[in-house]
Amino acid sequence: MDGVKNIVKERLQLHGIKPSLQRMAVMEYLMTHRTHPTADMIFTDLYPSIPTLSKATVYNTLNLLVERGVVRMITIEEKNARFDACMDPHIHFRCRECGAILDVDVEAHWIPNMPEGVIVDMSETYCIGSCAKCNSLREN
Ligand SMILES: [Zn+2]
Ligand SMILES: [Zn+2]
Repeated sequence: MDGVKNIVKERLQLHGIKPSLQRMAVMEYLMTHRTHPTADMIFTDLYPSIPTLSKATVYNTLNLLVERGVVRMITIEEKNARFDACMDPHIHFRCRECGAILDVDVEAHWIPNMPEGVIVDMSETYCIGSCAKCNSLREN
């Protein structure tokens, strides 16, 4: 077992998730692809190497991972939920033109003046515009 697989397995077990082959594959995919993929993208990429994988398994696995706080779901796109295994504080930028979703670093604990007595356990901030690649294509 290589290093990545060990980390994936530990991360699942730490959150009380039984590391089945399919769950391991979905988690490893998210940890090695920082593209914020949709469930369909994950399925399409994994299916050739795991023919026993079904779309339902990918959806169920993602739900479980989000529920247990191993992965976060990003609703930056109207049509599709996107998934992210990076739980460090960061926000997301979506390019309106090519659809790329990029990570944006932020200071931790930057939630401003919440009303008294409120406890925040989830916050998502989205920035939308055009990415550097699309901008440079337009200039040429
Ligand atoms: Zn772009
Ligand atoms: Zn991200």
